[in-house]
Amino acid sequence: MAANKKEPKGVRLDHISKIYKDPKTGKDFYAVHDVALDIEPGSFVTLLGPSGCGKTTTLRMIAGFESPDEGEIYLGGEPINELTPNKRDTAMVFQSYALFPHYNVFDNVAYGLRLRKVPKDEIQERVTNILKLVELSDMEQRMTNQLSGGQQQRVALARALVVEPGVLLFDEPLSNLDAKLRVQMRTEIRRIQQALGITAIYVTHDQSEAMAISDNIILMKGGVIAQMGSPTEIYYHPNSEFVADFIGECNFLPCTVTGREGNDVIADVYGHPVKVLSERDTIGSAEIVLRPEAIEIADQGQLPCKVELSCFMGSYQNYHVRVGDTLVKIADNCPIGRKTYQVGDEAYISFRSECAHLLAT
Ligand code: ATP
Repeated sequence: MAANKKEPKGVRLDHISKIYKDPKTGKDFYAVHDVALDIEPGSFVTLLGPSGCGKTTTLRMIAGFESPDEGEIYLGGEPINELTPNKRDTAMVFQSYALFPHYNVFDNVAYGLRLRKVPKDEIQERVTNILKLVELSDMEQRMTNQLSGGQQQRVALARALVVEPGVLLFDEPLSNLDAKLRVQMRTEIRRIQQALGITAIYVTHDQSEAMAISDNIILMKGGVIAQMGSPTEIYYHPNSEFVADFIGECNFLPCTVTGREGNDVIADVYGHPVKVLSERDTIGSAEIVLRPEAIEIADQGQLPCKVELSCFMGSYQNYHVRVGDTLVKIADNCPIGRKTYQVGDEAYISFRSECAHLLAT
């Protein structure tokens, strides 16, 4: 497969902010506030968060469609605040695809190269190679309005890739596709990004998409970074209830930390001791963050519970159990051949200390 001829570039957001005027109140507010981060060359980073958290504004500032009111953006070590979008070494894949309907696939993809006055032979070669990469080789002559949504998205991706940008930007590129195609296309995007070794910055509000595709996730809330880290770090070590909840189903068990044993702390949950892997030594009240699939239900275990819901979901048995005053959700994977608990049954839940995470309250 043809590798990118250029080196991928890193991006630094040096405490950038964007102020907008609220159209209702007429007051200024920070849509993005003091965002500081470094994106490694060749990595895939996702800006994730609920609607209005500032992820699109951040991406648009990197692309040059908006300019920061505070802070500086660096691309490959160079400050770029003053550069117009076409002078930046970036290319964007839009949610709407933004293809030219009166051009065929080849001409859509060739557009950026013609604009850059690339010689004809080279255009032919680069477009052919990229269309092969996105598996559209046999569609060169098709008009884009004769393509399916997934194929149009591939053309949009090819058009961005063909100019070999230092950084590839994606603004919710899969939003207009159905669920199955979204999953297929996100795998494709990741495959192509890794094959080319290109730096990618991707905006989505879909947490499973972010986890599946990214080296690192920047989770935003109200214009600021709530947490950044690898998908597993964010999933298993959220730094707040907001992050824990946003990134998937989660349980919060109130506890009191009473001491330490090796790498674990001992926490009391409704009068029962459990272990939680934690470096923090704070003694006192806290919460244990537990993912539903990290909990086991059995006749014996750490914490007594009573079953309030038991529902077969295909790949797992979904339980809601009462532990003290707390309702705990459990996803018991592949339950076939094991005991299934019914509503009203008394049982125990258990979890491994490394699957649990402690949050200060
Ligand atoms: P979504 O997922 O809904 O696209 P987002 O996280 O991408 O949301 P942004 O589009 O970055 O959020 O918007 C951040 C905040 O800035 C929101 O409150 C939005 O209403 C506001 N905003 C965006 N563009 C403008 C503008 N041109 N003028 C005023 N306010 C704006």
